[in-house]
Amino acid sequence: MVSAVVFDCDGVLTDNGSSWQNIHNKFGTISNKGSEHSKMLEKFLDGAISEEEFVEFDIRLWRSVKPDIHRDDIMRCYSGVELMEGAREVVAELQSRGVYVAIVSSGVDVFVGAIASMLKVDDWVANGFEWDDDGFLIRGLPTRVPTHNKGLMIEKLARINGFEMNEIISVGDSGTDLSMKVEDSAFIGFNPSRTRALEAFEEAAVPIVEGKDLRMIWPLIYSGEKLAG
Ligand SMILES: [Mg+2]
Repeated sequence: MVSAVVFDCDGVLTDNGSSWQNIHNKFGTISNKGSEHSKMLEKFLDGAISEEEFVEFDIRLWRSVKPDIHRDDIMRCYSGVELMEGAREVVAELQSRGVYVAIVSSGVDVFVGAIASMLKVDDWVANGFEWDDDGFLIRGLPTRVPTHNKGLMIEKLARINGFEMNEIISVGDSGTDLSMKVEDSAFIGFNPSRTRALEAFEEAAVPIVEGKDLRMIWPLIYSGEKLAG
């Protein structure tokens, strides 16, 4: 029995790679200082620097381009981002079968919240920023969803809603999303974002869906069934 399906957002429900990266693209801060940023990213993925340190590093880069950053500036970074093909259909069909649908993302909350309300999911959580009363960026918020330990939020969701772990399926595109697979819950690796994600999924021996149509996960949730387009 499937009680809940929990989706990562960036690269799973939306075809955007990373909601942090989207901000860098807008400010041009990856191309300006590409090597420095990618070094920090590798350090972060290896667990050598904390989530908060990485966010503060990012904010410093953006401020070097635009000292006062408004919430609207951040929202505009997502103007061209599209939902993943099939995302609406998968979420709607799961909910029509009584399955609880949630988003657990270490991406940016203003973006993930917009996607959550667009898809009308049952619950969502993400990371983000603190804003002043006029909507200007103060700093990063304390991490709610640790990238390397997203399972904390899966456990919380199970506890609050009374789900057994073996009734929960998580869907993610990064190696770090494997942390959503707690106890005997299930995991589907969808649209692996990088080579190291694919390698991590293979190593963990989880089912992998390559391609950018979320409906392709359906036969793995309800074996033998297909979700028509
Ligand atoms: Mg992702």
